[in-house]
Amino acid sequence: MEKREKLYEGKAKAIFATDDPKLVIQYFKDDATAFNGEKKGTITDKGVVNNLVTSRLMGILAAVGIPTHFVKRLNQREQLIRKVEIVPVEVVIRNVVAGSLAKRLGREEGERLPRPVVEFYLKSDALGDPLITLDHIDVFGWATDEEVEAIVEMSHRINDALVAIFAGVGIRLVDYKLEFGRLPDGHDTLVLADEISPDTCRLWDMETNKKLDKDRFRRDLGGVEEAYHEILHRLGLD
Ligand code: UDP
Repeated sequence: MEKREKLYEGKAKAIFATDDPKLVIQYFKDDATAFNGEKKGTITDKGVVNNLVTSRLMGILAAVGIPTHFVKRLNQREQLIRKVEIVPVEVVIRNVVAGSLAKRLGREEGERLPRPVVEFYLKSDALGDPLITLDHIDVFGWATDEEVEAIVEMSHRINDALVAIFAGVGIRLVDYKLEFGRLPDGHDTLVLADEISPDTCRLWDMETNKKLDKDRFRRDLGGVEEAYHEILHRLGLD
């Protein structure tokens, strides 16, 4: 597998071409941003942690039957993935009230939801990822009805698996963001894409409620690197 030119560079990751047009390399950076890019910084070895955590979780999800873009981890910061066209809708799954949900609806952070809640946001930095409805997705053609149905169904299955994995190591999976992509296989087969890491999940210690995720960076709580490393340790990846 030969690494070729950079195809794309985002805030936390970059994508490189390979000699196989169907495969690309996802490179995880230490750069961190919050509040739609207003707050910038670096978290030492974040890229390594997020690559290891994402690789492990994608591997487990594939094993329980969730189709994903993940092929294999290549090294500390890189993984081989299938090239997809990203659906421009960010899917947020919530098990506990936190963040924008607490703020928008005036609920207490930490309130347990009686069932998982799925939300959709338009993937648009220019607009600050606004909350959207199913009707918006349909009327503006961001995904088909069949895709939305598959996304919701997969999200619930992913949630069941992830909640169990984290609960097993004493961590509450509060909420997280997923992205899905279409494979260039002639059928636009939908697969889970992007990353699942302390950058994209809220992870609280079950006993102490200590935040072990990017909120330590967003809210200047300190101990950011230690929190990311704790996730690696709990998952047995250090
Ligand atoms: N999230 C993300 N990327 C985004 C927006 C949200 O990974 O662009 C994650 C975030 O880390 C949290 C969950 O999605 O785990 C819900 O985020 P929320 O809507 O509460 O927004 P925030 O408080 O992060 O602005």
